[in-house]
Amino acid sequence: MNSWFPIPSNSDFSIHNIPFGIGTIADGRHFACTRIGDHVLNLSALASTGFFKGLVSDESVFDKPVLNDFIQLGKPVTNEVRQRIQNALSDDHSPLRQMPQLFIPLDDVVMHLPVHIGDYTDFYSSIEHATNVGKMFRDPENALLPNWRHLPVGYHGRASSIVVSGTPIHRPSGQVKPKDAESPVFIPTQRLDFELEIGFIIGKDSYLGSSITTAEAEEYIFGLVLFNDWSARDIQAWEYVPLGPFLAKNFASSMSPWIVTLEALNDFRVSGVTQEPKVLPYLEFDGKRNYNVSLEVAITPIGHEEAIVTKSNFKYMYWNMCQQLAHHTSNGCNVCVGDLMASGTISGHDKGSFGSMLEICWGGKNPITLSDGKLRSFIEDGDRVTIRGWAENQEKRIGFGEVYNRIINETWPGLAAQ
Ligand code: CA
Repeated sequence: MNSWFPIPSNSDFSIHNIPFGIGTIADGRHFACTRIGDHVLNLSALASTGFFKGLVSDESVFDKPVLNDFIQLGKPVTNEVRQRIQNALSDDHSPLRQMPQLFIPLDDVVMHLPVHIGDYTDFYSSIEHATNVGKMFRDPENALLPNWRHLPVGYHGRASSIVVSGTPIHRPSGQVKPKDAESPVFIPTQRLDFELEIGFIIGKDSYLGSSITTAEAEEYIFGLVLFNDWSARDIQAWEYVPLGPFLAKNFASSMSPWIVTLEALNDFRVSGVTQEPKVLPYLEFDGKRNYNVSLEVAITPIGHEEAIVTKSNFKYMYWNMCQQLAHHTSNGCNVCVGDLMASGTISGHDKGSFGSMLEICWGGKNPITLSDGKLRSFIEDGDRVTIRGWAENQEKRIGFGEVYNRIINETWPGLAAQ
């Protein structure tokens, strides 16, 4: 499939992608949009030309500040919307070719959080990450807890503090207990960290009291985003027993603005690792349910060049999304359109593929040097952290773009603009 529209050859946003997002231009009105190369295609304006006639009866779904109502139309409709756009962009005689005003240069568009997230759940599904953290926080000999290979461990996170890429992140303060101190103190975190994750957006409501099987799960997954689950390790280490993450995690999480549909990633399915011991029947699955998505994280100290600090891959996940969703609903818990489920930190086998500074610098023992010449064990004020992700083969490239944020504190409000 080729397009008459100019698309840079290495673009994440090839004609094979056609993700969905929410944008505004100078007039401040929100519109649903997709991205093609370095341009944003306004779907609200496209709908008003009659482009979606016979497919979308209520075109106001393209004028909302979030995509929930659009997603609620269901995959038979949203997949067809995507396909109709693809066909028009590849058809030399498409009327779309006479409508250059619908294609807005990327720099003229502000992208927003694309969905209203009712509930956010974070899993812990990378065996390498869980092992690394277990070694550091607990017992090197028994790093994985006994339940870990039997169920996808997760917890309910906080939806209100999920922000879109570009939003400045405030360094949180909290209660930490310095080593050897008798009592805790309340201070700005000294161990601010990123977590390299991928999130998936629920595309279909389920009913309270019913469960989603692994075979049905993909019907409920609208698409994927890059996700940074910001973490304060010193707060985490002190607070997490016995109920798990709380204030060390809920001060902010950030996501990329473009939702890449599950269908766009279909050619990048791969098998995950063999799960041993065998899982319980409700967690068994058929087919290839992992995805080969390359991931990288860069840190950019203020005024300096970025440095890539890790390269990982979504395919490393021990528990796949279908198992996560089947487990999440196995007790009858319902899920709703717009809910976000995140993978948990995605680490590979070796140091170069670890998904957090905690692991890369091994709890502060092995700091790395960045382009400002200074050592880093964790994230400093002024640092910008960027996560990128893409799937690629000889025929196509489908990328997520990036999720980036800079860290500010109260004494540096000017940093917010940079
Ligand atoms: Ca996490």
